[in-house]
Amino acid sequence: MATINDNYLKLKAGYLFPEIARRVNTFAADNPDASIIRLGIGDVTEPLPAACRQAMIQAVEEMGDRTTFKGYGPEQGYTWLREKIAAQDFQARGADIDASEIFISDGSKCDTGNILEIFGHNNTIAVTDPVYPVYVDTNVMAGNTGAVNDQGEYAGLVYLPISAENNFTAEIPSQKVDLIYLCFPNNPTGAVATKAHLQAWVDYAKANNSIIFFDAAYEAYITDPNIPHSIYEIPGAREVAIEFRSFSKNAGFTGTRCALTVIPKTLTAKAADGADVELWKLWNRRQSTKFNGVSYIVQKGAEAVYSADGQSQIQTLVNFYLENAKIIRQQLTTAGLQVYGGVNAPYVWVKTPNGISSWEFFDKLLQTVNVVGTPGSGFGAAGEGYFRISAFNSRENVETAMERITTRLSL
Ligand SMILES: *Cc1c(COP(=O)(O)O)cnc(C)c1O
Repeated sequence: MATINDNYLKLKAGYLFPEIARRVNTFAADNPDASIIRLGIGDVTEPLPAACRQAMIQAVEEMGDRTTFKGYGPEQGYTWLREKIAAQDFQARGADIDASEIFISDGSKCDTGNILEIFGHNNTIAVTDPVYPVYVDTNVMAGNTGAVNDQGEYAGLVYLPISAENNFTAEIPSQKVDLIYLCFPNNPTGAVATKAHLQAWVDYAKANNSIIFFDAAYEAYITDPNIPHSIYEIPGAREVAIEFRSFSKNAGFTGTRCALTVIPKTLTAKAADGADVELWKLWNRRQSTKFNGVSYIVQKGAEAVYSADGQSQIQTLVNFYLENAKIIRQQLTTAGLQVYGGVNAPYVWVKTPNGISSWEFFDKLLQTVNVVGTPGSGFGAAGEGYFRISAFNSRENVETAMERITTRLSL
């Protein structure tokens, strides 16, 4: 008799986005004339940079000629792409990362989930609360947790609350944890980590033989020159951290698919017999066995990000979303709301007014001004009383939504 992975039954049945869709659909059916503006989803809206498109078009032509045709590429990604990433994303910022330590993939979402395959099941795992739900759900699927409680917390995970009180940066735990997920600039709060904060995490990880999973998907949105873009800018990080990056949010590749994971060759963890094992070797084995690489065409598109034209075009794209975020911050502040984030990130994290719940605020925004956001409680228990507004939209939609809020929303 075939059986299933029972861990899947522990998952809270995809509650957040289906529930948002249900409420929006009900409202739309009752109010067919309402023009609803969606500032809820974390997906980009603007077209791919021209440099990336041109590189991909040329790559398609090469695939049409048997002398330049490419079959399977290297599982780890083409060297010409990894060398540019190592030089421009890491070495140029003083981060000592070699091209051989970079693995190209088709997404950070899958890498942050798949990485668990090379770790044991007895690790103590810490996540922030609120958190990007992928980190939690992939641990549930892997059997690293117990059951979920009414607040949506899984037994066995260590939740590190982040709120306005601690500047949305988790305090270093007093207990020992083995694996820690950090995401800066943060989804959903838009917060960033200073060098000192990341140094404290690296020191903690060194002292406790822990490993940090550092998700830098939004590093391109950092505007403050003192904020590190990579955890490898922090001394000692090569011994304790894996970094995840993606072309989704800087170059608009959410539908094109290209990302990268960095595993320094100096990073080890313990085998059952107590031996130190290089994680790079395990991940290389995993990828070579289960992954056949990102398409040549897409890697050519990603390489174009590192050309002079590509760099200026992605900066224009990021600046566009950051200007949206600035408008959102200003207008919500004018409306009398307390806002966080949105300066070094495409997300604005809003305190709900008068202590109302995240879902009450969701309903109020939907019903009175027809604007959709994301209830903070959907990202974790400590997100209750907050609300996420995404800057990923057209300027017109952002301006219209904000105008409705400042003129028609009474708090
Ligand atoms: C969007 C996002 C990513 C990128 O995921 P891809 O699979 O590369 O598109 C990674 N981490 C976080 C927190 C994100 O919001």
